[in-house]
Amino acid sequence: MSSIYNCPCCGEKTFNPLTKAMAGTMRSKGRVCPKCGKRCVNGKGATIFAAIYFLISFIFVVYVFMHGKDSVWWDTHEVPIVLALILNMYIVPKIVNGFCFKMMETLRIDAYEK
Ligand SMILES: [Zn+2]
Repeated sequence: MSSIYNCPCCGEKTFNPLTKAMAGTMRSKGRVCPKCGKRCVNGKGATIFAAIYFLISFIFVVYVFMHGKDSVWWDTHEVPIVLALILNMYIVPKIVNGFCFKMMETLRIDAYEK
């Protein structure tokens, strides 16, 4: 049966939500398939999602910065909010990758070099 946890090269189900989440997007070197040794990453859908999510989070960070001195509440909450936003920019796409999107072999030619 085909699933998003199947290796795109050999077709075996060699990934799970955790290893898939750690495989990264098309820009990364990916994770080695234990069956065929090819490096696999999350495909186009995951890469586009990560880019859009990054952009939205970035707009929020800029917004918080611009309004950071508006009131006393913002003054004390600006730093934790910005830190939370930056943290969530890295974590949320990984969690989504663990459960969505098809995988593919990495496009990076340097991925197999030692
Ligand atoms: Zn494989």
